[in-house]
Amino acid sequence: MADAEIGLIGLGTMGAALALNIADKGFAVAVWNRTVEKVGAFHRTAGPLADRIVPCETPEALVAALKPPRAVLLMVPAGEAVDKQIAALRPLLSPGDVIVDGGNANFHDTARRVAEAEPVAFFGVGVSGGEDGARNGPSIMGGGPRQAWDRVAPILTAVAADYDGTPCAAWLGEGGAGHFVKTVHNGIEYAEMQAIAEVYGILRDGAGRSAAEIGAIFSRWDDGPLDSYLTEITAMVAAAVDPETDSPMLDVILDRAGQKGTGRWTAIEAQHLAAPVPGIEAAVAARNLSARHDARQRAQETFGAAPRRGEIGVETLEGAMIAGKVLTYAQGFAMIAAASEAFGWELPLPTVARIWRAGCIIRSAMLDDMATALEDGADNLLFAPHFSALLQRHHDALRETVAVAVRHGWPVPALAANLSYFDMLRTGRGTANMIQAQRDYFGAHGFDRIDGRDIRHGPWSAA
Ligand code: NAP
Repeated sequence: MADAEIGLIGLGTMGAALALNIADKGFAVAVWNRTVEKVGAFHRTAGPLADRIVPCETPEALVAALKPPRAVLLMVPAGEAVDKQIAALRPLLSPGDVIVDGGNANFHDTARRVAEAEPVAFFGVGVSGGEDGARNGPSIMGGGPRQAWDRVAPILTAVAADYDGTPCAAWLGEGGAGHFVKTVHNGIEYAEMQAIAEVYGILRDGAGRSAAEIGAIFSRWDDGPLDSYLTEITAMVAAAVDPETDSPMLDVILDRAGQKGTGRWTAIEAQHLAAPVPGIEAAVAARNLSARHDARQRAQETFGAAPRRGEIGVETLEGAMIAGKVLTYAQGFAMIAAASEAFGWELPLPTVARIWRAGCIIRSAMLDDMATALEDGADNLLFAPHFSALLQRHHDALRETVAVAVRHGWPVPALAANLSYFDMLRTGRGTANMIQAQRDYFGAHGFDRIDGRDIRHGPWSAA
């Protein structure tokens, strides 16, 4: 019987959790998975929700189970798998049916797919919150044709996280707008995680604190301005003990970070947009450097480890994190604003802040104030009174932290990048006059003069 409200393809970590969430909210969901045995196994373990789950053995059966206009949600790896599923589904679907990609797609791919899928509608949603978010309420960033959003909005807003009665799901714009915003979300996530890792390093290597002590510090910070999901889970992972060895979990995990590309895409896109996000770029580079484990061992053997012990007050570190956080989000929102203009999306920045307040990995207490500041018309968070006051209060702590870290050889690339961004931004008379003079010297590129005179070249080019 064609009475399922939505189909879902890909019963991996995210797909299975989302399917259960959809069923939990009262919608019938048809499911299919490439490895078909997983469909039955998933259905059998769905408990009381099994009645609202229609297990399907083929994509054809899945499509036949759907109420028209049909909607199929793909929860498969980004890239080729998505194109293959679209190609398989299109002949089975009718004009007005909707394919929704809930994976971490590159927004350029989403824009292409929206254009190519017609007369079937293609829609991209960024889903954040990991497995727990997918099961209990993720943040959902939609982009693509508005009518496609209208078809799936009742389901996606019902399954999304809720912040004081407001669902953390929204249509943000045409084409790849939703996946673009998800990409920047992940970029901010990279920068936040890197800054936390840097402060963890200072506490561990500089102050000689144990993992449990560091966990307790983050736990205290979670009650203040740094209140956020990432602060909270940092406290928890630092407190966890390895059942195999009774050592702190952090002490048995290799210091080699992985990535799937969204941070890198943010950095690349920021360069294209000329929208500087140095905190995020530093975090991407730091993950890449962390992965060069052998090179780091060799460098330590060659040059020796940096001198280690030294102290920075815990309050100073907290201030550094607060200043860094404001700078990272300000860069991220400025990048979203730049993309909105470049791609003609009219991205609603206050809505972006609102749907990040719950469900997603970068949810934090500060986002509510950011939503308010952006609603009040701030064109740059750094100049919104609340955030400029925070920066006034804490930028010295960021400087102190970076200065002491640099002196002792504790690597702090993200904190240092954010400090340099701040310093450069507040330097009214910068040093690019030197760059302009050099460019004119070797390439006759010309410059503007401070006195406004219409003389565009230096005496060197006449020589
Ligand atoms: P996953 O656990 O690895 O599951 C992948 C699913 O896709 C499986 O059901 C797999 O089927 C299916 N699949 C793989 N290749 C396929 C293909 N060529 N054709 C059809 N189906 C294929 O992945 P996941 O963590 O759920 O992630 C799914 C998407 O969500 C990804 O785009 C990911 O980036 C995004 N995402 C993940 C998270 C997270 O925290 N995990 C958070 C946000 C977004 P088989 O069982 O046959 O292998």
